[in-house]
Amino acid sequence: MATATTEHYRAYTPKPFTRAERDSVTILFGGLHWRIERVLQAVLENSGYRARVLPIATKEDLLTGREVADIGQCCPTSFTTGNLVNFLRGEAKQIGAAEVAKRYIYLTAGSCGACRFGQYHQSYELALRNSGLDAFRMFLMAQDQLDQKAAMGDGLDLNLPMTLGCLWGIFCTDLVQDLEYQVRPYEVLPGQTDAVVKDSVEYLYEVFRNRPARTPYRSVFWHLTTPYFTRALREVYRKFSQIEVDRLRVKPKVKITGEFYLQTVEGEPNYNIHRWLEAEGAEVYPAAITVWMDYLLRLGLQRFEDYSGIEKGARLKLGLGRVAQGIYRWTFNRLRRAMGSLSHEIPSQFELRRLAAPYFHSRLDGGEGDMLVGKALWAYHRKKAHMICELSPYSCMPNTMSIGAMAGVVGRYPDLLYAPLEIKGDAEVHALSRCQMILTEAKKRAQREFDDVLARTGLTVDEVRAYLDAHPEMKRATYRVPHGDAAGTAANLVLHVARRLGRRG
Ligand code: SF4
Repeated sequence: MATATTEHYRAYTPKPFTRAERDSVTILFGGLHWRIERVLQAVLENSGYRARVLPIATKEDLLTGREVADIGQCCPTSFTTGNLVNFLRGEAKQIGAAEVAKRYIYLTAGSCGACRFGQYHQSYELALRNSGLDAFRMFLMAQDQLDQKAAMGDGLDLNLPMTLGCLWGIFCTDLVQDLEYQVRPYEVLPGQTDAVVKDSVEYLYEVFRNRPARTPYRSVFWHLTTPYFTRALREVYRKFSQIEVDRLRVKPKVKITGEFYLQTVEGEPNYNIHRWLEAEGAEVYPAAITVWMDYLLRLGLQRFEDYSGIEKGARLKLGLGRVAQGIYRWTFNRLRRAMGSLSHEIPSQFELRRLAAPYFHSRLDGGEGDMLVGKALWAYHRKKAHMICELSPYSCMPNTMSIGAMAGVVGRYPDLLYAPLEIKGDAEVHALSRCQMILTEAKKRAQREFDDVLARTGLTVDEVRAYLDAHPEMKRATYRVPHGDAAGTAANLVLHVARRLGRRG
């Protein structure tokens, strides 16, 4: 018998968050790595909000996410929904569900999209409903529509100064994270890098919390010209300069790529892959959020490229967008210089697109799109890493496409070491053992490369060590070893010493 339904689908519409509630309501957020989360907290507090970072997601959260939302969803959705629900349940036990709905709101990123990213709010809604927390309010900051006062209420004002604060926070913490990963594997005193990074992030928290207030338009000018952040980063640089390193340890360099959430978080959602790789003897090249945002800018501008000469104003918008992209990169590089240009540069989006073009169409978006392929080839051709470790979420459509495209890349470049890891959240041994197999080959390559550089320059390890002892400034974490004709840090150091000694490499 046919059944008829009279209950139509209604999109989730939370009660608005009002200005009057600002002093009593805490904004919850999370899903990134701890450095940027701490600085974003400072940006929110600087704008007059109460803010709290959710704890790092755990396996327990994954199971809760699967239980209360759609079991077939991609694993980042399960982790993040379960993480929110478990936090709220814990709070509700102490103060009751009604009070939780009154005292907290949740803010996260969302968008329309080719994948589940466009349906995050449905997953959250389902999870909240199934947990008896229907009245709880969560808001999505759509990546493509920042002014959402109508949906959110007037409590949260995503104004220009706050947006710029978030952006500058991303730049600064990306630079710190990148340097941290270059230094820790070589530190002479174990634990010193972690201590310096913690201190630096707390320092940046204060810097962003005390950022001077400006009107929106003055704020743009101020952020672009002020020495406030470059001064702060020079102080971070000074803190790093206390660390002594031994860069003659031969280590394979592993570039992390993959889905945004998995490549960004550090914890159980990605099997603690960053720390695991370090413990296995690798140097990790982390994925910067700055690169991801540069990609989003490029994606947005591609539409105007396609419509130039067809749609009125498209060419002008493209030109303005290119200027904005130039300013974005100029700002990042300005801050990078304040840290001694030690952190990795951001790759050109045009180069990434060009490299990926034979394998992945640049107009296919969702996940990292063609950038994932482009980054792997960029790291390979420019000797930025010995191996690519790609973190692919279980049940992720865009990443499945990228892995398919990478099969073509590996067919063309068989010596590109590529470890695609499917991350389910609960199959750690399987994923890590797969990674270990490729890492073993990467270790051999790093050692071969080092031996080859020694042979080419005619130097021995003892001679290089003696040279470093005679030049102790070269043993500082902030000494810049130029990127030479090698991927490995130790090999590049030997090439650099050889050049200083006037030898050919
Ligand atoms: S890119 Fe993949 S993992 Fe990320 S939201 Fe989309 S489907 Fe999920």
